[in-house]
Amino acid sequence: MPLLEGPVGVEDLILLEPLDEESLIKNLQLRYENKEIYTYIGNVVISVNPYQQLPIYGPEFIAKYRDYTFYELKPHIYALANVAYQSLKDRDRDQCILITGESGAGKTEASKLVMSYVAAVCGKGEQVNSVKEQLLQSNPVLEAFGNAKTIRNNNSSRFGKYMDIEFDFKGSPLGGVITNYLLEKSRVVKQLKGERNFHIFYQLLAGADAQLLKALKLEEDTSVYGYLNGEVSKVNGMDDASNFRAVQHAMSVIGFSEEEIRQVLEVTALVLKLGNVKLTDEFQANGIPASGICDGKGIQEIGEMMGLNSTELERALCSRTMETGKEKVVTVLNVTQVRKKVMGVLDIYGFEILEDNSFEQFVINYCNERLQQVFIELTLKEEQEEYKREGIPWTKVEYFDNGIICNLIEHSQRGILAMLDEECLRPGVVSDSTFLAKLNQLFSKHSHYESKVSQNAQRQYDRTMGLSCFRINHYAGKVTYNVTGFIDKNNDLLFRDLSQTMWKAQHPLLKSLFPEGNPKEASLKRPPTAGTQFKNSVAVLMKNLYSKNPNYIRCIKPNDQQQQGRFTSEMVTVQARYLGLLENVRVRRAGYAFRQGYKPFLERYRLLSRSTWPPAGPQACLDRSSQVSIPNALLSTQAQKFLLNLKKNLPSTKVLDNTWPA
Ligand code: ADP
Ligand code: MG
Repeated sequence: MPLLEGPVGVEDLILLEPLDEESLIKNLQLRYENKEIYTYIGNVVISVNPYQQLPIYGPEFIAKYRDYTFYELKPHIYALANVAYQSLKDRDRDQCILITGESGAGKTEASKLVMSYVAAVCGKGEQVNSVKEQLLQSNPVLEAFGNAKTIRNNNSSRFGKYMDIEFDFKGSPLGGVITNYLLEKSRVVKQLKGERNFHIFYQLLAGADAQLLKALKLEEDTSVYGYLNGEVSKVNGMDDASNFRAVQHAMSVIGFSEEEIRQVLEVTALVLKLGNVKLTDEFQANGIPASGICDGKGIQEIGEMMGLNSTELERALCSRTMETGKEKVVTVLNVTQVRKKVMGVLDIYGFEILEDNSFEQFVINYCNERLQQVFIELTLKEEQEEYKREGIPWTKVEYFDNGIICNLIEHSQRGILAMLDEECLRPGVVSDSTFLAKLNQLFSKHSHYESKVSQNAQRQYDRTMGLSCFRINHYAGKVTYNVTGFIDKNNDLLFRDLSQTMWKAQHPLLKSLFPEGNPKEASLKRPPTAGTQFKNSVAVLMKNLYSKNPNYIRCIKPNDQQQQGRFTSEMVTVQARYLGLLENVRVRRAGYAFRQGYKPFLERYRLLSRSTWPPAGPQACLDRSSQVSIPNALLSTQAQKFLLNLKKNLPSTKVLDNTWPA
């Protein structure tokens, strides 16, 4: 019995009549306009970003969703989180929650809702509460250092995040492991028009008191800093100062000491100050330019803060430009050793099509291709193949399999990433354009690849595509990439002299960020390229996801203006198409909505049939307590009888069970 008012449109698209794209979009629109942002396709949740606070969250709602089963209440992320958590607890199956959608569609907010739901319902007690607090408080910290205002989203995640929450056998949280993917480092030094640097810089300047600013040798005014001097320093509705206090608090909850927090802020301040160091080109006697630093006082101050001799620092800085950062940070929170169950929550950057797309967009979109593969394989392909295996009459539902695009990018010998690595490692003169030439040569006939050179008479000649560009026809749309910078970004070299100098710093945190600067650790082996590292971590992620039971949240962005109540059909149609929503409904509808293993099914419904109830003689073995000792054969006979009975009494019921015969 629903607790809430009757449905607007259909709550589950499986019930849609007629089933076509138009009615699907109309249904989403009708619901959206009535502030019903969630709709199901079976157990998949579609979420359309409301861009406003709706009164459907918080303890009261969590309590409701906790007490009812999936279809009893209105569609909600809480319902999905509840199913995932309950099956983790009761059926002992590791779960993962896959949140997809383009930038600004609501993935990060959805992941937070999942986390807060799980935190609210799992376990009690002082220690458990402290673990929960830590899990929840990791978010503000990650967002401060990894999110920024972009044109598409005021709080855009510029890194991918996968969090495994670990539970004990009772379902109480033990801790979590967070893996981060490819932070968009280039943002530190450069942002597009209308975008900001990472939140933390603005938070620090707005939120630090006079004493802290003085200690960090910073000024409050953002315009002083070269890295922050875009025309936007404030974001509507975002309070940098109070967020700064929240971040400080969150860091201490997670377990940073006062001293560690101070060091993190010092390094943050150092980045800002380094941005103001001006390099000048001085000409040496031989006419070759050599850079020097024009602001002696600035560099001295930086040297002091780092605990480094400023002459040495200057030498290190002038030898090459600086890039820093680690790809992967793993935080292990307080994990005690027992039997573990795991729920993974994946919130990764969404598909991006910008005006100028570079290496970052290329890897982001590659990752999204792989996630789409997971969805296709587990939802569209696997499901249909199961019917085939079971010998059930089935008319195939067609869908686009993006395996061909994944292959184009990641094939170990002939993929674009492999070609890029080959160029990066090849001796001789290499440049972004030799890389592009190679791609053009190899892929000119590939159905998902285009470039100015490869375009032939059959394809329309496109004047907007520059000579330094190639285009990939992704599952979610065509994206034109400019190869300028691909080689450098893939090499991601931090020049040795610089890391060696940083390693000499007295500043403990700074020093620890450059372990490769330790002469004893010096290795002549080249570290893997950024592209390869990313590809490898995506592969690990995929393996991890495939080992778990997937739950999907498909986020949709209703308009480009971040405006509430505005539903642009065209935009939603494009997303619904590439997310494969219609195919998803078709497969779901033609198939079986409900499935359960034989044993649990029999246990639950044996009361319905005379041949399985009341239990007599050997049948008594179906009692919970004696269940383990039942020979499989006996259970099968029992089950067979039950099935026959069910078919006789309810001829319209379709029964599918892949554990049969046991
Ligand atoms: P993504 O992670 O997909 O890029 P976000 O989750 O950051 O997108 O969402 C972008 C913005 O949209 C948020 O900052 C918030 O303002 C708004 N938003 C998203 N989901 C919701 C929601 N369920 N309720 C209210 N506002 C939301
Ligand atoms: Mg996000």
